[in-house]
Amino acid sequence: MSCSEFDIIERFFRHRGVQREDVVLGVGDDAALLQPPAGRLLVSAVDTLVAGRHFPLQTAAFDIAWKALAVNLSDLAAMGATPAWALLALTLPEPDLRWLEGFADGFFALAEQHAVALVGGDTTRGPLSISIQLQGFVEPGRALRRDAARPGDAIFVSGTPGDAALALQQLQSGAVVDADLLARLNRPQPRVALGQALAGLAAAAIDISDGLLADLGHLLNASACAARLWPQRLPRSAALQALPEAQAQALQFNGGDDYELCFTVPAARREALLAAVAGLAVTVREIGVIEAGSGLVCESADGQCFSPRAAGFDHFRDA
Ligand code: ADP
Ligand code: MG
Repeated sequence: MSCSEFDIIERFFRHRGVQREDVVLGVGDDAALLQPPAGRLLVSAVDTLVAGRHFPLQTAAFDIAWKALAVNLSDLAAMGATPAWALLALTLPEPDLRWLEGFADGFFALAEQHAVALVGGDTTRGPLSISIQLQGFVEPGRALRRDAARPGDAIFVSGTPGDAALALQQLQSGAVVDADLLARLNRPQPRVALGQALAGLAAAAIDISDGLLADLGHLLNASACAARLWPQRLPRSAALQALPEAQAQALQFNGGDDYELCFTVPAARREALLAAVAGLAVTVREIGVIEAGSGLVCESADGQCFSPRAAGFDHFRDA
């Protein structure tokens, strides 16, 4: 069956998902009309997923859409923002209706969990690529910036880093991947509620997309600080616990795609922060401390210090 660009929009993306009162005009006109709440900063992010680069070609359409939205939700979470509106630019090799159905289901499943309305987009033909722009709000002064860490801050991480990279490794080696582990790669849970709980309490934050050391490194550079990490404190999933120590540590240090949050908190607000996150679905763990200077040093359980090599993913360097 042939299907026009207009048919695709009408059938899969219009009149679907949550309706928000702050959407004055959504999908269908030349542009959306949106009403930001008074007294809030608009928080805006865009991320693109390219087939074969950001996800294996055989990935299910549902999971591709889920992840394309999740990575943007994760960016807003890392700012402490409340997400609201999404724009979806979809480039498709052909109008495959079953694929589009799965894609739309995945997109709206996650969008609904976070009350995000799809307010517009663009649909074109070409190599499969998905670009989503996400907007949300934060109170002035409460955003979690990368440049706000200070010596003495405790460093925390959420969840169990390394799982997504292990799933990808197993997938690429042709092994059967455990369903829970595979979900960590294909359907990451963006830490939106955590980010909002941290807003106004944490100092600096970043989401872990390229690996803990690489992303923490960005935060340290932005804040002009150093860090001391205690790697044995990094929470490990059962799947990682089953691995040899060196492999598990490499996955936790350099594995990407986890979309957990790494954040810092001044000592004076540490207890308030722990109370604020106590009821959440995801747990956080203190893994280090911000220090004056530059660079990152690890201190093992027996007090030995070593400098780990950050090997986070970089599209141009690694290409
Ligand atoms: P224009 O040519 O004026 O840019 P389009 O034909 O690209 O208009 O889009 C028509 C309407 O459909 C617009 O409101 C646009 O935001 C929306 N739209 C297009 N593609 C998508 C999509 N994949 N998801 C959601 N909305 C879309
Ligand atoms: Mg257009």
